[in-house]
Amino acid sequence: MKKITVLGSTGSIGTATLEVVRRYPDRFRVVGLAAGRNIELFKRQIDEFRPQVVAVADDTAAERLRKDAGSVEILSGPGGIREVAAHDGADFVLSAISGSAGLLPTLAAITKGKTIGLANKETLVMAGPLVNKAVAEHGATIIPVDSEHSAIFQCMHGHNGSDIRKLILTASGGPFHGRKADDLVDIKPEEALNHPTWQMGKKISIDSATLMNKGLEVIEAHYLFGFAPGDIEVIIHPQSIVHSLVEFIDGALIAHLSRPDMKGPISYALSYPERLDGVLAPCRLHELGTLTFESPDMERFPCLRYAYDALESGGSATAVLNAANEMAVDAFMEGRITFHQIPVIIKKMLDAHKPVPLDDIETVLSADGWARRMFRELVVKS
Ligand code: MG
Repeated sequence: MKKITVLGSTGSIGTATLEVVRRYPDRFRVVGLAAGRNIELFKRQIDEFRPQVVAVADDTAAERLRKDAGSVEILSGPGGIREVAAHDGADFVLSAISGSAGLLPTLAAITKGKTIGLANKETLVMAGPLVNKAVAEHGATIIPVDSEHSAIFQCMHGHNGSDIRKLILTASGGPFHGRKADDLVDIKPEEALNHPTWQMGKKISIDSATLMNKGLEVIEAHYLFGFAPGDIEVIIHPQSIVHSLVEFIDGALIAHLSRPDMKGPISYALSYPERLDGVLAPCRLHELGTLTFESPDMERFPCLRYAYDALESGGSATAVLNAANEMAVDAFMEGRITFHQIPVIIKKMLDAHKPVPLDDIETVLSADGWARRMFRELVVKS
């Protein structure tokens, strides 16, 4: 019986994780849960899974939950969420809090030497070198849950790293794939949220529409697998059936195919190195029809280019890229900037930032803070 904690249990990855747990009750037991704002759903999850300890972002919500919590310990605030992440009862922590808020709880679990199922890409985008150092120091293990990285992890399994030449990440292209630059000007948030193949949270749906999601994933792949930016390629594959590929030195490609459903990568991380029986419906190739591939257009979707640039700059640059993007996506959702201003603002901020090496977590947080202040200045002025 694997004892697991789910951080971000009410989000789209969190609820899919609990669906997997529900389906394989003899394999997994939930000992910790943490969530943000969706208190009604969180309460139902606590009632169903009866964990030892839970945390919510908000103190008032914690008070409400304590009323009929029974033996469940209820914590709150960022400190409470970190405590749940580090709780002794769990061997496995599924890190699925969305955005930069996921970084410190994930680090807390790493310093306890746990196995982390990593769905929060910001952890590596903001603090990749520090996270890898902490993983080595504390004997923790990271298993990727992002579908592309899970695919690569599965393709690499059993192979020598030195036999691999390149990683190839697939991208659906998002809802605006194939549109001309002029058509991207007056896009509404509802259109950007309407992803053609994956059901996902709001932030990642917008990131998918700008291709920033793929840029963040290139950075994530660099820190997970240790490949140089030039050896990580992106290819557009609108059907989202091939989840990524590995190119070997002899010219062979190994690809991972499945239906686009996050329960696949979640289950693999939970049960690795075993596989669970019957997670996804089989992928019948003759029913799928044509699978197509093409190069990404970085002129029309420059966010991908900026992510490569930030990764090449190194140090604090990717933390600034991430903060700039989070602020820009929020501003777009609230109607304060247009869709095509997202990359323009991110570029301005990367140009204004002088990257520093990441010596400690304070360096990361101060780069993040700088970027958020800079964004507010730029958006008020523009
Ligand atoms: Mg992904």
